[in-house]
Amino acid sequence: MSKIGFIGLGIMGKPMSLNLLKAGHSLVVYDINQAAVEEVKQAGAEVGSSPKDVASKAKIIITMLPNSPQVKAVVLGANGVMEGAEKGSLVVDMSSIAPLVSREVAEALAVKGIRMLDAPVSGGQPKAIDGTMSIMVGGAQADFDEMVPIFKVLGGSYVLTGGIGAGNVTKLANQIIVAVNIAAVSEALVMATKAGVDPELVYKAIRGGLAGSTVLDAKAPLMMDRKFNPGFRINLHIKDLANVLETSHGIGVPLPLTAGVMEILQALKVDGLGECDHGAIVKFYEKLAQIEVKRTEA
Ligand code: NAD
Repeated sequence: MSKIGFIGLGIMGKPMSLNLLKAGHSLVVYDINQAAVEEVKQAGAEVGSSPKDVASKAKIIITMLPNSPQVKAVVLGANGVMEGAEKGSLVVDMSSIAPLVSREVAEALAVKGIRMLDAPVSGGQPKAIDGTMSIMVGGAQADFDEMVPIFKVLGGSYVLTGGIGAGNVTKLANQIIVAVNIAAVSEALVMATKAGVDPELVYKAIRGGLAGSTVLDAKAPLMMDRKFNPGFRINLHIKDLANVLETSHGIGVPLPLTAGVMEILQALKVDGLGECDHGAIVKFYEKLAQIEVKRTEA
């Protein structure tokens, strides 16, 4: 198995890189956070001195960074991946970024004969840890096929949804559904609680019906347990919805529900909750209704 470069060892990138090491791949890694680098080094990875250095040592380079500006800087910037990568290398950006930026980066890399896939994920930290993320991929079929053995280590599903940028369009669709769904769960549980019905019993009663969802199962228990540590941070969801709204407005698609949830997230950020899990959307409704969603004491 050839060496894989991995850049961005955060909440998602660290467990993903550890899973690749466990599966027997050799890795060369880089992050500006030295503590994260040290942890992955202890697990057996080689450490690169820059994105350029990583790219010069690996034919496949995975990036898992916060957003478009970081991906552009790491791939196209000074001492970046493009400077170090050979012709024929494959850059696989697994960050959630604007689809137009994926296309821009891919076009710049293509000038040097470097291939690219955009391959954002969903599932959050728990699925990154157990290697069962959903991976949404844009790019060429042959490049996707080459990555399948690696996607199998990281994900429970991996689907090529179109050309470059299609992975991130799919991820934006995913983020609309998740955001609006968490807001709906929050509205429902706040209403039930203030009406004097135990939210836990409401959850148990409805989860098997049409109102049931992966979001309901993942977030309702955390809301009732008052657990708002991330998970997926409100600030990151704001980033994704900004990418959603910019993309949708650019192509003439009004998104009134998404825009509404975006303003809820902005209000929570102003309240100092930007680093909380997006399940803290419930706190916005709790403030309006002057009630807290929690399990009734036994
Ligand atoms: P994170 O902030 O925890 O990790 C990002 C990492 O990138 C950090 O370790 C940071 O030090 C590093 N980094 C930033 N700038 C860098 C640079 N210039 N050079 C090298 N390293 C740099 O974020 P995360 O939660 O791991 O998310 C990563 C991506 O995955 C984001 O696009 C996010 O939207 C997406 N995502 C996150 C989740 C989740 O639940 N956390 C779920 C699905 C998708």
